[in-house]
Amino acid sequence: MKPRVAIVTGAAAGIGTAIAARFLADGYAVMAVDRATRPEDFRVEPGCSAFLQADLADKAVAGEIAAAASALGTVDALINNAGIGGSRPVAQTDDDSWEKILDVNLGAAFRLSRAVLPGMIERGKGSIVHIASIFGEVGYRGTAAYAASKAALAGLTRQMAADYGPAGIRVNAVAPGLIETAMTAKLLQDPTYRDLMLNSTPVGRTGKPREVAGVVAFLCSDDASFVNGETIAVDGGWRATRMKVSG
Ligand code: NAP
Repeated sequence: MKPRVAIVTGAAAGIGTAIAARFLADGYAVMAVDRATRPEDFRVEPGCSAFLQADLADKAVAGEIAAAASALGTVDALINNAGIGGSRPVAQTDDDSWEKILDVNLGAAFRLSRAVLPGMIERGKGSIVHIASIFGEVGYRGTAAYAASKAALAGLTRQMAADYGPAGIRVNAVAPGLIETAMTAKLLQDPTYRDLMLNSTPVGRTGKPREVAGVVAFLCSDDASFVNGETIAVDGGWRATRMKVSG
């Protein structure tokens, strides 16, 4: 029998590495995708079934990724995790930056979903999870393109759930809160940001990549067989409360 395959983008760092490790532990063959160009940039678990170096901004790579993953087995799960931050308020955002952030965070998820859907439809089974953000749901200063891309992912999730639920495919999203990764390392050194986020997170700490990976694994499992079109926050309660914990 062919193994179940999970495609995980942005797997060379942070949340993506944790997701790849979790799927491996759950018995999937993992197709890890990242733009990292040197072998040492791949910090994925040694047992990862296949690595593919690809820049998801390249519109041609989605088909290549889907084909390479299909060669490993049946693609049961697609995790659109790769993303970039660094956006600014609208008045300070140039066209290039807007287009790049929207394309990597949203366009690549659309293209890769389109590439794997025919195989999932044929088998009548599959699960797609987009990694969105709490900043796609709650306004925050200085992050226009990023927030727009993540809000659009939540919309895409609902739309895909409606279109492909009848074909046996579930599509959900996870919206992480403040998770300790390379993406947030610099932000966490800013005391204002740190205070603002941590003081309004009821559990009073940052999250770990594996805590996001656990929810992604749940969404792709049979335990989530009736969960479809949802965006689930993994944020220690930040979005639900923005509770002032201290100060
Ligand atoms: P990270 O540590 O920066 O890791 C992201 C990985 O994706 C990196 O290896 C990155 O490569 C890769 N990547 C970026 N653009 C790519 C492209 N065009 N093609 C291929 N690979 C690409 O980020 P993270 O914190 O793990 O975040 C993962 C996802 O969670 C992102 O979608 C992010 O928006 C979302 N998220 C994170 C947080 C958080 O607190 N960390 C909160 C909410 C949402 P480079 O290193 O070369 O960029």
